Amino acid sequence: MKLEGRVAVVTGAGSGIGREISRHLASEGARIAAVDLRPETAEETVAMLEGSGHFAAAVDVSEGTSVVEMFGKVDAEFGRVDILVNNAGVDHIPGDGRDELLATGQQTIHMSDEGFTKLMAINVNGVFFCLREAIKVMQREQNAGSIINMSSVAGLSQYGNVSYSASKAAVLGITRAAAGELGRFGIRVNAICPGVIDTPMTAGIPDPMLDPLRRATPLGRTGQPRDIATTAVFLASDDSSFITGQWISPNGGLVMQ
Ligand code: NAP
Repeated sequence: MKLEGRVAVVTGAGSGIGREISRHLASEGARIAAVDLRPETAEETVAMLEGSGHFAAAVDVSEGTSVVEMFGKVDAEFGRVDILVNNAGVDHIPGDGRDELLATGQQTIHMSDEGFTKLMAINVNGVFFCLREAIKVMQREQNAGSIINMSSVAGLSQYGNVSYSASKAAVLGITRAAAGELGRFGIRVNAICPGVIDTPMTAGIPDPMLDPLRRATPLGRTGQPRDIATTAVFLASDDSSFITGQWISPNGGLVMQ
């Protein structure tokens, strides 16, 4: 097993991609700290995992104090963190103009200050808060680690609204800057940019918004959470030991770069 003895913190572990990543990391021998906004969903994930010694906790990644508290619990439980998967995120928030997009074909002009700011707080501040707390433990314990940040094809291309695209491009900026800074501590930082993946998130997107992306995907299918989880295992393991500051985009060809 590729991850025997390692501890992985997975945010947004109670649903979709985060749940599947937790399952794949556990099947490679990692112990998982599954954390999510609703602790009951994180606990459900833990109940599905292979092996023993897994742990569930609540966190609101957009709140720095909540992230510090969660990492305190993880540290008390495991005493180390080897892998962080910064996966929690939202694509849609009240006030982001989605309803108006469907009605009028325009979104940005209807986006509120609060809608933009709240989405950035979850998708960007959350990645920063978790990365900062994880590296404290990684540097203290073993001077090694792998951090995987969940971006999106929206961070690479015209797909996605302005707040979601800005947030996912910012995740790539954090990935590169952190990789540059943390390499000398043995900590690798990479990003995954999924295309359209079947999860509760995309189930909530109206077909008129998703159909053009499905049609534009050369492989002719939407992705499954497994497509992202296998990429996460690669980036978490020593198979990618010379890879840092990069992104990988399992997207069926929707975006080619
Ligand atoms: P999902 O099924 O909605 O899962 C996201 C999880 O994050 C949910 O459990 C959600 O909790 C949690 N979450 C939301 N806000 C949070 C917060 N403030 N603090 C802690 N947890 C929070 O979505 P998914 O499709 O698996 O997406 C996972 C990641 O992949 C996201 O970053 C998303 O942007 C990215 N992504 C997804 C796709 C796709 O097609 N699915 C494509 C590209 C990128 P609640 O359910 O309680 O809100």
